[in-house]
Amino acid sequence: MSTVLRDQAPEADTPEYVLEARDVSKHFTVRGPLGGTTVVRAVEDATVRLRPGQILALVGESGSGKTTLARMLARFHEPTRGEIVLRGERVSGNRRAQRAYHSEVQLIFQDPFGSLNPLHRVRYNLDRALCLHQPHLTAKGRETRIAELLERVSLTPAADYTTKFPHELSGGQRQRVVIARALAVEPKVLLGDEPISMLDVSIRLEMLNLLKGLRTEDGLALLYITHDIASARYLCDEIAVMYAGQMVESGPKEDVIASPQHPYTKLLIESSPDPERGVGDRDKLFAGADELGEPPSLIDPPTGCRFHPRCPFAMPECAVEAPPRTELGGGHWAKCWLHAKGRAGELAGTTHAAATVARREKLQGAS
Ligand code: SF4
Repeated sequence: MSTVLRDQAPEADTPEYVLEARDVSKHFTVRGPLGGTTVVRAVEDATVRLRPGQILALVGESGSGKTTLARMLARFHEPTRGEIVLRGERVSGNRRAQRAYHSEVQLIFQDPFGSLNPLHRVRYNLDRALCLHQPHLTAKGRETRIAELLERVSLTPAADYTTKFPHELSGGQRQRVVIARALAVEPKVLLGDEPISMLDVSIRLEMLNLLKGLRTEDGLALLYITHDIASARYLCDEIAVMYAGQMVESGPKEDVIASPQHPYTKLLIESSPDPERGVGDRDKLFAGADELGEPPSLIDPPTGCRFHPRCPFAMPECAVEAPPRTELGGGHWAKCWLHAKGRAGELAGTTHAAATVARREKLQGAS
């Protein structure tokens, strides 16, 4: 069984998917600096499908739209277009349905300290979730469950932690409490929005192993949102890459990492630390990286392919028309004109930075 992500028109109801975002877009209307309003197109026509027990990494730099997509999946943002579907049923917006939804889908935030009530002890933080979502439990039953949850996230003995305030815990312990609280409602899906990025490097691996365990032992589906391709490589089954609010590539982890088929994915992977690459190679790799420029504005995104102002492989048509999706086999796809024009071989023959340098030299030679 594999996690399936399709950036395409919705199909008929498919209850084997525990959670889907079907062709969702999110536009925010914001005030401009000179008055009036303007629209931020944070996510455009993204589709995500998760099966039980699978981990999908959603990868991209800041501002790529991955957090907005997660917040739509968590029902904190209503999609401007498209729909969120839980086990084959479109979810409604009323308050009661919202609570039922959050019994099945939980979002883990980046900052564990901000996720917990600092005025209350660990016991209260967990007990509140149990009171809301497991109302059949007695006080004694909740106390037993709290101990089980803390042990599930390796905070043992549990009695050492229930009476602590969040500020008395380390960052890693706090994030474990946040995960325990998410598990208190017995969800089917966890949405982890950069769940390890604020933790000390020394405990990130422990946290990734905890998340892996939740998938294998509890059968949870996990959407793991990160800008860090190395942790995605360690944790997930499949990778989806977002750039400037759009999905640009997706597929099985091994295929995407070993053979990225979109220049932006190639850039992300080549910029990621890899112990198998030597220092000298890394120097070469980053030789042109500074010339890549900034991500585009989502208020007035580039025409055509949104990556074209930063892409060393760009062709004239890239600035005019959005590239079609090309199926590459085995569930791997990419949206890049190189495929449609039969020039995909150029990707494999160079690094992103070397292509950037070559392009600059070509442009200088032509001027
Ligand atoms: Fe680069 Fe063109 Fe492909 Fe966009 S469509 S990634 S600009 S080659």
